[in-house]
Amino acid sequence: MIGHRMPESSDLMASVEPKLQQVFMTNQPVLIAAATGTGFMEGAVRNTIAKKALNCVNGAFSQRMAEITVANGKASEVYEVEWGQAILPEPVAARLAGGEFDAVTLAHNETSTGVASPVGEIAKAIRALPNGNDIIIIVDAVSSLSGAYLPFDEWDLDVLFTSSQKAFALPPGLAFCAVSPRAMEKAKTVPNRGFYFDFIDMNKFLQKHQTSATTPISLLYAADVQLDRILAEGVEARIARHVAMRDRTIEWVTSKGFHLFAAPGYESTTVTTAVNARDRDREIDISALNKFLRGRGMIISNGYGNLKGKTFRIAHMGDLQMADLETLFAAMDEFLATTS
Ligand code: PLP
Repeated sequence: MIGHRMPESSDLMASVEPKLQQVFMTNQPVLIAAATGTGFMEGAVRNTIAKKALNCVNGAFSQRMAEITVANGKASEVYEVEWGQAILPEPVAARLAGGEFDAVTLAHNETSTGVASPVGEIAKAIRALPNGNDIIIIVDAVSSLSGAYLPFDEWDLDVLFTSSQKAFALPPGLAFCAVSPRAMEKAKTVPNRGFYFDFIDMNKFLQKHQTSATTPISLLYAADVQLDRILAEGVEARIARHVAMRDRTIEWVTSKGFHLFAAPGYESTTVTTAVNARDRDREIDISALNKFLRGRGMIISNGYGNLKGKTFRIAHMGDLQMADLETLFAAMDEFLATTS
């Protein structure tokens, strides 16, 4: 292992940084942490909220963000829609127009429900408000970045973070977070930003191609290689592959008599959630299905939290190819044939 204050480590960071910026579609700094996405959920809240956050909730992970806001002593108001629905621009902008809030939080891709909210349209509606430039827009893209279109600069977002283990198809343990100049300036005015996720401090080190604490060198080697692969495929092509896998998964799900949990038009490009009611009334045994699939080296996910047993989720992200999905669907067809 090289030392994290050695020039070789800075060379590695300097190699990773611009590639990450390409994937985030930004010229702004993309902070790197030895952490998972939850770390940046906490960091976003601590660095940018001085008055009050509007926490938009449509599933378990956006709810976690609301909990983290409160756990960090920040004022919070929750705007919740039914799970399975998307967060939409008009109601968010209407709530933010009053001037009571200085931040809004959203999960772009609710992994618990398979819903992708229209972040670009939401940001546009917020920036069109007279106080729109005073609002810090915090977006959780843990389960979508690199598998969905999320241009940080073009959409004028402020904090956009992800984890290494989802659509980046890397081992867990790294988290990445783009921060806008608006959010960086705001952070300078917010006291008690904490230590490990202090954006100002993290950025200071990033400019020297270092991290403030020990650099996760082995994971960064992996990230460096994987980012090369992502860029060789092409960011847009990678997203298009995810869209095609999403469409094929929807086709399989509906052709087998299941229906989607996500509101029409807001289906995630990285995970599809099916309601466990075949032809509207017959449940399948998801544990038995997974036992069967495990025998073939595959697995799907049960519904999340309260949705366990009521839904099942098929992930189609990262380096998975259409052929992998076809192998999965053939095995699921076989399982279904034994149960019906
Ligand atoms: N946000 C979303 C949308 C997620 O799907 C997850 C994990 O699945 C998290 C946050 C938490 O991420 P991590 O486990 O990397 O901290």
